[in-house]
Amino acid sequence: MAIDPQSAILQAEEQRAQAEALFNSIGEGAIATDEFGRITRINPIALDILGYKESELIGEWFPKKIVAINEDDVTVNLIDRPITKAFLTGRSVTDKIFYRKHDGQRFPVMLTVSPILLADRPIGAIEVFRDITLEEEIDRMKSEFISLASHQLRTPLSAIKTYSHMLVDGYMGDVTPAQKKSLRTIIGATNRMNELISTLLNITRIESGTIVINSRMLRVERAAEEVIKELSLAASEKNINLSMTVQGKLATSVKTDNLILKEIISNLVSNAIKYTTEGGAVDISVRGRVKDVLITVTDNGWGIPKESHDQVFSKFFRAQNTVKRETTGTGLGLYLVKGLLERLRGTIWFESEEGKGTKFFFTLPKEQRQRSN
Ligand code: ADP
Repeated sequence: MAIDPQSAILQAEEQRAQAEALFNSIGEGAIATDEFGRITRINPIALDILGYKESELIGEWFPKKIVAINEDDVTVNLIDRPITKAFLTGRSVTDKIFYRKHDGQRFPVMLTVSPILLADRPIGAIEVFRDITLEEEIDRMKSEFISLASHQLRTPLSAIKTYSHMLVDGYMGDVTPAQKKSLRTIIGATNRMNELISTLLNITRIESGTIVINSRMLRVERAAEEVIKELSLAASEKNINLSMTVQGKLATSVKTDNLILKEIISNLVSNAIKYTTEGGAVDISVRGRVKDVLITVTDNGWGIPKESHDQVFSKFFRAQNTVKRETTGTGLGLYLVKGLLERLRGTIWFESEEGKGTKFFFTLPKEQRQRSN
């Protein structure tokens, strides 16, 4: 059947109008380019965000006209621009960078740029982006609020703790065994609240990038020994055997922050104790390697169900098998541990089988050659 040229033109026109309407109705800024990165189309939201007129951008080379800058206010190299990466890889790229408006003002954007592929060859790209100034501001305010609230909670909490200790120790007169038991429960609860406040404060510090790291040379097993001392009571209450071994002959010293390292070990070991049945065993092993030190926390507890493995380091995650048996917990510990380790340039992973036990591994890099162990 012969195609009527008139209706073919009409059809092409209709498709063009549809694409135009679709492009203009995208709820975020959108810019389309040809295969050379020249701007072919720009929607009204993008013009509004960037402060340009359409005629000032059409036909211009995208990377030159829309300047991208990084956190340090340095112009992003062409090779590192998301649009270049999309062209080179043939895949969509999502990134957070800063753009400069027409008036020179810098603002943060979240963007996704996708190549338009024809027979696997990029014939152009479409970038969709949004101004995230407000989102970042809300995030900052949220962190500030949590930080302020946590600090404010600490003062009344320490009063509760101090007076409970004085009461239980008999400084205010005799207390019956039943009263002592209640006071110990109060003290235990204030300790948990204190830990929770520290976790929240640490998370806000990590998320806002304000955590301070005081590095010095230290031996990892020393930090582990201190944690064992602090957690030995919790372990003995559950009749859990808590042990530590140093393996291999290589140095176990690293240049790192002692408090942060202890916080990491403490989180992993207290989880191991918490999620292991009475009479179980928890072991910390420290092994010096050529480029790093490997720390392993092993328990023979309840394990983590396989289907939850990829969520273990997510904020607020708690596995189903533990939620049923152990009600205390926030799902913030491992999220914090991962964030802290990133700051110390370490890595973390685990192996776990439900009903058998869990092994958490983490490494800390050796920055300098040690003279001796
Ligand atoms: P929390 O212990 O406060 O719930 P975490 O972030 O420390 O939060 O741990 C998240 C979840 O991962 C826990 O709730 C638990 O389900 C699981 N988990 C962590 N460590 C272990 C472990 N050693 N054995 C079994 N499950 C664990």
